[in-house]
Amino acid sequence: MNNRLFLAALLCAVSAHAADLQYFEALEPHMGTMFEIKLYAPDEPSAKTAFQAAFARVTQLDNELSDYKPDSELNLATKAAARHPVHISDDLAAVLTTSQMISEQTGGAFDVTVGPLTRLWRQARKNHQLPTPEAIQQARERCGYRKLHLDPKSQTMTVDLPDMQLDLGAIAKGYTADEALKVITNLGIHSALVAASGDLAFSDAPPGQRGWKIGIGSSDRVLVLTNMAVSTSGASEQFLEFGGKHYSHIIDPATGMGLLNDITVTAISRHGLLADGADTAASVLGCEKGLAFIEKNPELAAFISEKANGQVHSLESSRFKKLNAVSQ
Ligand code: AMP
Ligand code: MG
Repeated sequence: MNNRLFLAALLCAVSAHAADLQYFEALEPHMGTMFEIKLYAPDEPSAKTAFQAAFARVTQLDNELSDYKPDSELNLATKAAARHPVHISDDLAAVLTTSQMISEQTGGAFDVTVGPLTRLWRQARKNHQLPTPEAIQQARERCGYRKLHLDPKSQTMTVDLPDMQLDLGAIAKGYTADEALKVITNLGIHSALVAASGDLAFSDAPPGQRGWKIGIGSSDRVLVLTNMAVSTSGASEQFLEFGGKHYSHIIDPATGMGLLNDITVTAISRHGLLADGADTAASVLGCEKGLAFIEKNPELAAFISEKANGQVHSLESSRFKKLNAVSQ
């Protein structure tokens, strides 16, 4: 067989195989949101096996990384880590290591030790009441990424104060989407997408298509991508309205206050862990500094938009501009 014929035969085999794949989807509530999985599998039993294995991994990660569950690994380890170094799981170590890296890169704008502040603001949203300056000050004293120490050699953590609280809400869902996708890939399913509300991770293109069509943040842009993670963070997703102002669920650790600017960041990376951390980090930094942070990391691209006085101001990072847009 000459080369061209062989290639034609191979292409037929691939498309015949792709045509055999069927589309399946599943939805389950986890981590206070809905997890959706879309995949192409040869038959229903293989799809079901993949859904079960992926959701089991999500459940495991929720038990490790949740700050809502009093006996999550995160909460138990943080309590004990004020007394002695605590050995942590590979998952918690991966999430905390990237979190601390982003904190360093953003001068603490991103900070998973903001737990005391996020709890205070959750209560404030429930009561429709701003936290008092005293309460904010007291909570701030219990925060600060420099009070959290990781030892990569022994895979342990320590914290400086007994009443610290970590909150991985800005980064855990991106990591979980990554990990659920890995489980599906390891079962031999190569075209799948995992969505944890605004955090997506996906593998090869759906059969016969160039990629997954992904809408970008609040824009009307659609990208066609494969083997990427896309995370969107909106400052106005959850907020407290008080005195005519919108205080976001995203907190500026420098002031202890919810963000007041209406910013939306879509971060794109090969790793959901990084994309999810980066969308929140860039939101706190604001448009210009947020873009500079994205540009510095070769693993990141982003689309940032901010609404002010009825006008939308949008910025695209250099790597974002090179991504494949659907021709409108
Ligand atoms: P995301 O939707 O990915 O932007 O994550 C928002 C969540 O991140 C909030 O609900 C808090 O749990 C957490 N968070 C808020 N402010 C910060 C911050 N400055 N650094 C890290 N995590 C934060
Ligand atoms: Mg995030």
